[in-house]
Amino acid sequence: MEESRKVVEKKSYAFINKWKDRTDYLEDPLILLRALDEYETWNRYYGTDGAEGYYFMLRTQQNQNDPTLKAKLNKIEEFGRKIQNDIQFFYLRIGKIPLKRQKGFLENRRLQKYRHFLERIFAEARYLLSEPEERILNLKASPAYSSWVKMTAGFLAKEEREVIAENGRKVISNLSEISSLMNSRQRKVRDAAARAFNNILSNHVEVAETELNSILANKKIDDELRGMERPDLSRHVSDDIDSAIVDTLIAAVSARFSIPRRYYRLKAKLHGVRKLKYHERNVEYGTIAKKYSYGRTVTLVERVFDNLERKFGDILRKFLDDRRIDVFPRTGKASGAFCAHHLLSHPTYILLNHTGKLYDVLTFAHELGHGINNELMRERQNALNFGAPLSTAEVASTFMEDFVLQELLGQADDELRIAILMNKLNDDVSTIFRQAACYRFEQELHKAFRQRGYLAKEEIGTLFQNNMAAYMGTSVEQSPGSENWWVYWGHIRHFFYVYSYASGLLISKSLQNSVKENPRFVVKVKDFLSAGMSDSPQNIFKNLGVDITDRLFWDKGLDEIESLLRETERLAEKMGKI
Ligand SMILES: [Zn+2]
Repeated sequence: MEESRKVVEKKSYAFINKWKDRTDYLEDPLILLRALDEYETWNRYYGTDGAEGYYFMLRTQQNQNDPTLKAKLNKIEEFGRKIQNDIQFFYLRIGKIPLKRQKGFLENRRLQKYRHFLERIFAEARYLLSEPEERILNLKASPAYSSWVKMTAGFLAKEEREVIAENGRKVISNLSEISSLMNSRQRKVRDAAARAFNNILSNHVEVAETELNSILANKKIDDELRGMERPDLSRHVSDDIDSAIVDTLIAAVSARFSIPRRYYRLKAKLHGVRKLKYHERNVEYGTIAKKYSYGRTVTLVERVFDNLERKFGDILRKFLDDRRIDVFPRTGKASGAFCAHHLLSHPTYILLNHTGKLYDVLTFAHELGHGINNELMRERQNALNFGAPLSTAEVASTFMEDFVLQELLGQADDELRIAILMNKLNDDVSTIFRQAACYRFEQELHKAFRQRGYLAKEEIGTLFQNNMAAYMGTSVEQSPGSENWWVYWGHIRHFFYVYSYASGLLISKSLQNSVKENPRFVVKVKDFLSAGMSDSPQNIFKNLGVDITDRLFWDKGLDEIESLLRETERLAEKMGKI
């Protein structure tokens, strides 16, 4: 490893020293091509930390309690940061190429394989200030933004309250434990948890008011300095997506808020109440007790993938043959699941915690979906286009997950079927409609702040509740205390990134809809999954004959959810439950 680190260092500084004092690559397209080829090779085989960084990242996920591993990871990260700092001049200077010359470079035939990489650099650089100004903005980011956010989160994380545990005993719990108790099937347990949760939030609402106003002011200042016309523009630029597309998405989802309202009406009826309380939205319905061994999981998912497209099954088999999946839970291993990739020349790995629940089958399909996405991109893209933009990163995973869900539903009896459907709808509602409502809340928040100069906690609470009520409808109560739930909502502090949850899942649903209509459409899905960052999502789809600027595209995805809801309503009626 020491030797490989020396190689990374040697290769990195060979590139840095060769180009750092030169300006010819900013003027001559052929020299730029040579520089980009060398940068691509560096990115493909070495990067800032080589195989060592990837290795220790993965090893610390497999054993989080080993201080030796942690120390080694810290060391290689420190090594990588230095190289990152020394090499960033390369793309920062490319960003400063004058507009007229940019156009010529983008049109140059020899540079086509790097066209979109250049486009992304140019698009971000358009809003950058001079180097010393950028330094000042960087230096003030912590006191003017992140310290405030950390402060509120820190106060909340320290809180503890006495609540009722699932076994009926009184326990002292922290905020995250309390919030999971709010989903308890026992009313007594979840109500006690909600009282404690609301009490904690109301204790910190004054602090959160000051915090939120400060970070809204900071955002306004940055946007004005950079000449950003709308508060969500910086997000769209860094995500490589057109504002018009996000606007269409949010408008399409909002126009179908009747779907979540109907869902909550059904849920309230199934739970035998007229209205759900605000904190009861996510209480599960029915029981999903069926068990799936890992072997059965693999067979089932493999069959679904093969039926969709042989290549998907082949990629799954390669993962198994190469033993690139860490399957079962162990002490010290990270919880949850993920699919990891690093450099283009490195293999993809998957970590799971398979315990045999139905949910684990879906997780397996989800992570393999990411895996398939990676392997397809690896075959077709260069290292500078290797990766998925935020707006479409979850398309492959949710696509595979939903087809496997269809298979599971096909095998289920009515009781299991309704339980699976209700939980699936709950996830879809939270991922699409709740996030669109949150996006609209954020838009109103920034707008109101910019008009009035300061927002009192009551004003923030009213904006919040209005937007929540808009998608939940009248079957969910905007219960006293819920006006403060923005206090702990981390998403709104990361400004406008929640649209990406909705866009990823809806694109996936829309593609599913097309595949169900015509199975041969899966070829286009495969092309899309191979495209990586070779172009903007909008153009990648356009080349496949799909127009994501069209409202109808998003409606197709929403139709999928509505038909799932209709199926569930009919089943509930047939079973005499409503
Ligand atoms: Zn995912």
